[in-house]
Amino acid sequence: MSLSPKIEARKDMAVLQIRTFGHPTLTKKAQPVRDIDAFIVELARDMVETMYCAPGLGLSAPQVDVSRRLITVDLSVGKNGKDLIILLNPEIVGLEGEITAEEGCLSVPGVFEKVSRPARVEVKGLDLKGRERSYAAEDILARVFCHEIDHLNGKLFLERLSPLKRQLLKRKLRKSQESLGLNEDRFLRQS
Ligand SMILES: [Zn+2]
Repeated sequence: MSLSPKIEARKDMAVLQIRTFGHPTLTKKAQPVRDIDAFIVELARDMVETMYCAPGLGLSAPQVDVSRRLITVDLSVGKNGKDLIILLNPEIVGLEGEITAEEGCLSVPGVFEKVSRPARVEVKGLDLKGRERSYAAEDILARVFCHEIDHLNGKLFLERLSPLKRQLLKRKLRKSQESLGLNEDRFLRQS
């Protein structure tokens, strides 16, 4: 879906706060979008703005503390309007092959690790007008779809790493958050 002139012209678009590792919404399974109402349309537009500002290739609603099944993806990060994909209730309906490549997450800043993902996926969902959309994605686009859909299922990419690596990273992340003076109990609860 392209970035319509209406989106570009909006003056009140907001850059939302991206929640990071330890935030409870990131580990919850998000609810399907049933009505494409003003809240959802505004959320989608703000998520696009937030994704471009970060900058990131993709963003999911749980990352901005909204537990709904909505993702935005743009491999050009706003440089090419036709690359923007806004998808409600996205589902992987087919997958093939495997590629291991480095991956990062806006909710886990500063951590980049190799993750195995399907080489090709077919993804279905709805656009903001409620029309069914289907994407045959490969390589990076397939990876971004898988990463964002994982978020909708309460899963961070850390969960795709080996148990040892995951524990080491989680410990490190908790430590750095504790040193920032954040509530320790909240993070322990998440483990
Ligand atoms: Zn992420």
